[in-house]
Amino acid sequence: MNRQMRRVQIQQVLRDWFAENARDLPWRRARDSYAIWVSEIMLQQTRVPTTIPYYERFLRRFPTVQHLARARLDTVLKWWEGLGYYSRARNLHRAAQEIVLRFNGQIPETKDDLLTLPGIGRYTAGAIASIAFGRREPLVDGNVERVLCRVFRIQGNPKDASTRKKLWAIAEELLPRSHVGQFNQALMELGSEVCMPRNPRCEECPLKQLCEAKRHGEQDRLPTRTVRKPPPSHVVVVGVIYRNGRILIDKRKPKGLLGGLWEFPGGKVRPGESLEAALHREVREELDIAIEVGREISVVDHSYAHFRVRIHAFECKHLSGEPRCIACADLKWVRPGELGRHAFPAANKKIIDILRPCCRGRPRPKDTKHE
Ligand code: SF4
Repeated sequence: MNRQMRRVQIQQVLRDWFAENARDLPWRRARDSYAIWVSEIMLQQTRVPTTIPYYERFLRRFPTVQHLARARLDTVLKWWEGLGYYSRARNLHRAAQEIVLRFNGQIPETKDDLLTLPGIGRYTAGAIASIAFGRREPLVDGNVERVLCRVFRIQGNPKDASTRKKLWAIAEELLPRSHVGQFNQALMELGSEVCMPRNPRCEECPLKQLCEAKRHGEQDRLPTRTVRKPPPSHVVVVGVIYRNGRILIDKRKPKGLLGGLWEFPGGKVRPGESLEAALHREVREELDIAIEVGREISVVDHSYAHFRVRIHAFECKHLSGEPRCIACADLKWVRPGELGRHAFPAANKKIIDILRPCCRGRPRPKDTKHE
């Protein structure tokens, strides 16, 4: 079969398969480019089932790009809380403001204009342009990458620039003349639901007659994967510092990991340092105050994309010094019941959950049993 015939067959087979098998996802019912954009940003690093409730809540709270642009970043982060990768929320917020200012409140239609917005890379620009506006733009995400590597039996590692270039070229060549958004979604859906990373369901696959990896029995070997080193682990210590029934929280600087989120003061334990000594040092360096370190409230393990942390949380008493923001963007003393109004990273939320009985007026942490 020549290249052109194969391309047409892939298009037809995928179109029919998607018409029958597409999952009913809320953003697929959306006709609104703003909703499609929000869903694409949320889906960048989050699985579909986790995304759905966040997407629905977020759109109820910020129904238009104007609502999002007008909102305070703190509010946006609060509604993003738990989804992780918070730079997505910060970029979404900044991009909404730019859309209002530079594009008269209309989501831009072209890939080139979309690429000028914060948080929008080549994949997301292709997704919005094709799905929301029907533009003839390809996209390659992890699912598409896997399908294409298998169907076309591409041996190179998709993380390498030359293989990526090849995959984008194939994705572009495969595009039909119309219903491009449907076609792109079909490719992604196939990767997500049939051509999975492990144990692809080849017997149910609409492309099984056209797939080179299947023909050569290489579907489990492709795409070529990078062997990853285990991520580094850090030990972190934080203080739940009380003064007159209130707890001290501080806000991370706006840029970088977890930027703009609130947290309990603390930081990394240095080699050879005790947990208590590290907490005294961190609190002094961060806020210039002295504390009394009490009992350990909890130990929380959490994984980020590139490292893991074990967080030891201690109940502490403020002793002296008025806290100053030396290594943070803001700070405040809050009542335990007010913690929930602030956006915290997931690991800190686990500590708040442990504190929660006291937040509802029940015994303070020292009287409760943990872990
Ligand atoms: S036949 Fe198997 S390997 Fe090929 S695209 Fe389908 S599921 Fe993937």
